Amino acid sequence: MKLIAGGVVKGGTSLDYKTGSWRDQMPVIRPELCNHCGRCEMVCPDSAVHYVKDVYVIDVDYCKGCGLCAYECHSEAIEMVKEEK
Ligand code: SF4
Ligand code: SF4
Repeated sequence: MKLIAGGVVKGGTSLDYKTGSWRDQMPVIRPELCNHCGRCEMVCPDSAVHYVKDVYVIDVDYCKGCGLCAYECHSEAIEMVKEEK
C-alpha cells in the first residue's frame, strides 16, 4: 500500500499484515491456571488472543511474541518460550 503524507488509511488494514513472522518467543497458555479474567485478550496489541470454547488461544499468524500478555497475566498462566525457527 502506498502511503501519502496526511492521508487517511482505511480501517482493518492490520489484517493484511501478519506479524507472526517477527516472533522469536511464543506465549503458551496453561488453561489449568487461567481464571478467565480476559486481561491477556485486552492488552494484546495485535488482537492475537481469542476466547474460543471456554479457553484462551493465541493466533500464531498475528502474535509477534512481545510478551505483554504473559507480563499482565496475574495468574502466571502464560509462559513465554523460545521459538526455534
Ligand atoms: S490473563 Fe491469564 S488468567 Fe487472565 S484470561 Fe489470560 S491467561 Fe487467563
Ligand atoms: S506475545 Fe504479544 S502479540 Fe503475542 S499474544 Fe501476547 S500480547 Fe499478543
